[in-house]
Amino acid sequence: MSLLKVEAVTRQFGGFKAVDEVSLQLASGELLGIAGTNGAGKSTLFAAIAGQQPPDAGQIRFAEHDITRLAPHRRARLGLVRTFQIPREFKSLTVHENLLAAAANPQGERLFNAFVQTRSLREHEAQIAAKADGILQFLNLARVRDVKAGGLSGGQKKLVELGRVLMLDPRCILLDEPFAGVNPVLIEEICERVRELNARGIAFIVIEHHLQALKSLSNRMIVMDRGRILAEGDPHRVLDDPRVQEAYMGG
Ligand code: ADP
Ligand code: MG
Repeated sequence: MSLLKVEAVTRQFGGFKAVDEVSLQLASGELLGIAGTNGAGKSTLFAAIAGQQPPDAGQIRFAEHDITRLAPHRRARLGLVRTFQIPREFKSLTVHENLLAAAANPQGERLFNAFVQTRSLREHEAQIAAKADGILQFLNLARVRDVKAGGLSGGQKKLVELGRVLMLDPRCILLDEPFAGVNPVLIEEICERVRELNARGIAFIVIEHHLQALKSLSNRMIVMDRGRILAEGDPHRVLDDPRVQEAYMGG
């Protein structure tokens, strides 16, 4: 039984089909890699799956629900979350506060309202704060807990993005280019954390330009080209596929 089922999803801008009848499935606990040259439609596919840009045609099912037209925060509540290619941290908030903000309710109510707090609300906030600290520890970000997120390195910002989505107890995480602008040591570190989370049962789809890192991480790989799926299957076989090599060389 699939956790995520994308059926013939199309997303167009004007007359241009950025994603053109793409279908894919993700099993519970699976780690799927999606590669493809710039402009292939990878981020647009994520936006369709996570709800920022719902599809113009096709259907998306997650955990038995039809989520095709669901708002992003309602998809998140079902356990489907994403990160962005360009990290969207709150630059002037600390790392810890960034995680707290992710847990705040999607209507934008403030987590900390000093004046009208019931005891149960305070207890709830203490639990959220402790949860954020646990996640920072797991991601090796405890050292920068109280540092403003805007001053972090590219790789640390990617980890904060991951931390923010972990606050939502996801079943499936979509990572958009987690290694872009990240130094090789931190790439390995991010891979390790993703493997650990995956071993705990969280499914992933990882979009990546960096083919070697993606190949070593993925159970299965898809290569996209001009809005369509060009090849799919075992990571080694997919990257050796002449059509894939041609797309990368020609692109
Ligand atoms: P990738 O993530 O694979 O690099 P994208 O999904 O970002 O590719 O983009 C796919 C194509 O759709 C590109 O040609 C891009 O210019 C176009 N595109 C993406 N978003 C928009 C948008 N909001 N408006 C118009 N065109 C867009
Ligand atoms: Mg992209």
